[in-house]
Amino acid sequence: MQKLFPNERLGRKISKWYLLHGRHDLPWRKSISPYRVWISEIMLQQTQVVTAIPFFKRFMRQYPTLKSILGASEDEVLALWSGLGYYRRARYIFQTKEIIKNLYKGKFPKDFDSILSLPGIGRSTAGAIASIAHNQPFPILDTNVKRVLQRLHALPDNINDKLMWELATHIQDRKDLFPYTQGIMDLGATVCLTKEPLCKRCPLKKDCKSAFQLNTQISPRKIIQKKKMALKFYLFFDNEQFLAQKNNELSIWSGLWLLPPEIPINFVNKYTVSKDFTVTHQLSHRTLEITFVVCKMKRLLRPKTNHEYKTVKINSYFDLGMPKPITQLIKNL
Ligand code: SF4
Repeated sequence: MQKLFPNERLGRKISKWYLLHGRHDLPWRKSISPYRVWISEIMLQQTQVVTAIPFFKRFMRQYPTLKSILGASEDEVLALWSGLGYYRRARYIFQTKEIIKNLYKGKFPKDFDSILSLPGIGRSTAGAIASIAHNQPFPILDTNVKRVLQRLHALPDNINDKLMWELATHIQDRKDLFPYTQGIMDLGATVCLTKEPLCKRCPLKKDCKSAFQLNTQISPRKIIQKKKMALKFYLFFDNEQFLAQKNNELSIWSGLWLLPPEIPINFVNKYTVSKDFTVTHQLSHRTLEITFVVCKMKRLLRPKTNHEYKTVKINSYFDLGMPKPITQLIKNL
């Protein structure tokens, strides 16, 4: 088994490669701090780099430092996340900064176990923060890194995590952790591509057991059968504002602001329907069929309801954490 473990020599190749070919321009790779690494890593957990960049920049404009986010409300953090999806991540950010404020005196913890105990931070994210921001030799094992290591050793897809973590630990270039950690992520994202690995450009090609092999040997992505879910929302609005309702019922978009799913009892006969249409919206495991009923009122009433609601200025919808299909609807009013 010992033979299987790569050594730092390969890690060294990766860090050298990073210095020449890495993605040095990514915004979170400038002005490195635990805070910036943390926010970027959480964003990148389920979002591609190209999509995450404008959200990261927007987030940093609003909260440039850890200190600046400590007083933010959950709604304010969710509003900045609006359109990025997987809103649980925004709630984790809120919970984490509360813990940092109350338990760590406003400083991001340095100790690996403390980082790992924070909401939304698994072993790989903790490893990224510890190695990139604190220069501590903890490995990362995200999807890209896993793919590189698996191919390097020609391991099957169902290989156990324990072995993968050992491989990820042994290959680290401990003398140059920063370029190594960024490098192995970039190698997976830009060279060892899922469908067509660019082995010619790979610094590991002489050591890799899968180098230049036919792409058909690489297992195709599983096709996920998505469940369908039908939703209906009413957009009640007048010339200035609309009615938003906090979501405490749907399992998706939990805690976000949505529109009422039914007509408040005191609204009956007080509006005219100007549009009624259905849109399709894809989530990772669900296809949503959302019917919107757009209802114009002369003057927006306060609903008689037990639900938490808000009347919101139409041109301030971006101040709320709302999912994309709803913000798009309001934007086009
Ligand atoms: S040689 Fe090819 S398959 Fe092997 S790690 Fe590099 S890009 Fe991936």
